[in-house]
Amino acid sequence: MLRIRASKMLAAPVMKIEILTIFPEFFTQVFEFGIIRRAKLASIVKINVHDVREFAFDKHKMTDDRPFGGGDGMVMKPEPIFAAIEQLLGTTNRDEYPKATRVVMLSPQGTPLTQEIANSLAKNADHLVLICGRYEGVDERVNDALVTDEISIGDYVLSGGEPAAVVLTDAVVRLLPDALGSETSAENDSFSNGLLDCPHYTRPADFRGMQVPEVLLNGNHAEIEKWRFEKALEKTQKNRPDLLKGENGGCE
Ligand code: SAM
Repeated sequence: MLRIRASKMLAAPVMKIEILTIFPEFFTQVFEFGIIRRAKLASIVKINVHDVREFAFDKHKMTDDRPFGGGDGMVMKPEPIFAAIEQLLGTTNRDEYPKATRVVMLSPQGTPLTQEIANSLAKNADHLVLICGRYEGVDERVNDALVTDEISIGDYVLSGGEPAAVVLTDAVVRLLPDALGSETSAENDSFSNGLLDCPHYTRPADFRGMQVPEVLLNGNHAEIEKWRFEKALEKTQKNRPDLLKGENGGCE
């Protein structure tokens, strides 16, 4: 059931996200579920998807061209992206962007996305423009002049920035005030305290002979908290020891 206060439905969104893509249809359904959908309906976030082709100036609406210097593949042209930013932000001078505006290039060459970066964007930005590359990538002059943050969602190469834009949007929107609702919180999620989350169980207590740990059934909250911490530590040691060594923003 959607629990949205009427006052929220009329308020200005906490955050506006604009996505620049040559495949706007990619996003038709992807933000229509769960927390993101609820945040949209509650005016916590407004997400606009823009077709980069609409900003191409030539009669063929070209958004890519061959690379200077030769080589494989095509490169996304700078002009349509400059035109889109000009229209959305009123300027292509990065120094004139409003303070809480960030123009993000999704790129495998970017800074790896972490919970800390998502938190920082949720806290400090109110307008995100996400640029989705395709082919060999985007003409570097877009990075040089327009982009404030280059972000990668991991050390692998996708065919396009669209899935990365979805990942970044999801990671940020769920951290916006009230996005998670009262029934859940990001506080105990993985990475929030430098550890992975602890294991979770629900009914039935006995499933095919596999028992839920006894401690979770006894109602002793101090014991439950202690068990959860130990299990979170155990899982972190097993799957992500780098977090315990203080690497990747973990705790020491
Ligand atoms: N030639 C580029 C390279 O090796 O760095 C890869 C280009 S990739 C095929 C096309 C687009 O997908 C990129 O411009 C970027 O927008 C997006 N992309 C690919 N991998 C990504 C990643 N790990 N994180 C974020 N965006 C990614």
